[in-house]
Amino acid sequence: MTLDNRTCLVTGASKGIGRGIAEEFGRNGANVVVNYRSSEDAAYEVRDHIDGAGGEAVVAQADVANLGEVQEMYQSVHDAFGGIDVLVNNAGITVDKKFESMTREDWDRVMDVNLGGVFNCTKTCFEDIRNATEGRLVNISSVVGQQGNYGQANYATTKSGMFGFTRTIALELAQEGSTANCVAPGFVMTDMLADVPDRVKEGILERIPLDRFAEVEDIVGMVRFLASEESSYMTGQVLGVNGGMEW
Ligand code: NAP
Repeated sequence: MTLDNRTCLVTGASKGIGRGIAEEFGRNGANVVVNYRSSEDAAYEVRDHIDGAGGEAVVAQADVANLGEVQEMYQSVHDAFGGIDVLVNNAGITVDKKFESMTREDWDRVMDVNLGGVFNCTKTCFEDIRNATEGRLVNISSVVGQQGNYGQANYATTKSGMFGFTRTIALELAQEGSTANCVAPGFVMTDMLADVPDRVKEGILERIPLDRFAEVEDIVGMVRFLASEESSYMTGQVLGVNGGMEW
């Protein structure tokens, strides 16, 4: 499952799942673009980690919600590595509130990053992915997009929205042999989950048949597989990696 000489852009790669994906890609021979928005030191740590393990990585700052910044990032990547073969739309945020307290600003912020970012990055890289040999789009959704989740009407909507987007882009890439798939992780031990109150986490744990939260390492293998040529005949799919949660 080598990614030798494939240029892979991972959004939100300074921390959490994105960091794990970037490092996994680096270990497997990819040229990795480590995108971040604000955690600069962490992003350079990821680059150094990949370089230290014999891989190749560059850091690229951009707020994925801002199309102009994404286009500038793309230009800088192009100068370093040429076209993008694999885009992982991973960057995401939560602004959790019961719907009765959720403001239009809370709604828009999550839409702008989680779906606006997916539009901006996919739009900017689309021709590269389509023209690549075995180009790949991998969108990081969530089990919350499948089940819904109390206090996450905005977030759940963005994560469900990725399913329709992925299936449609899969159709539009298929003629050229490139693919688009979605990974829907369960609850993963990152900063995002750290913000959830303990009593809510206890309730979530009761719903996970494998009786533990996921580690980042539980998710990255699936993303590597989808990025590789091994997954050539899979497209338009949503792959749950969630400890057996039903939906
Ligand atoms: P995290 O630890 O909070 O990391 C989020 C990453 O996204 C950071 O690198 C952050 O960069 C970046 N980011 C946020 N807003 C950005 C923006 N506007 N532009 C560019 N980068 C931005 O979150 P995580 O848990 O790893 O989540 C990663 C993805 O997995 C998200 O899409 C999330 O919805 C999904 N997911 C997470 C879980 C979970 O339980 N953790 C479960 C299912 C799905 P900076 O720090 O540099 O801003």
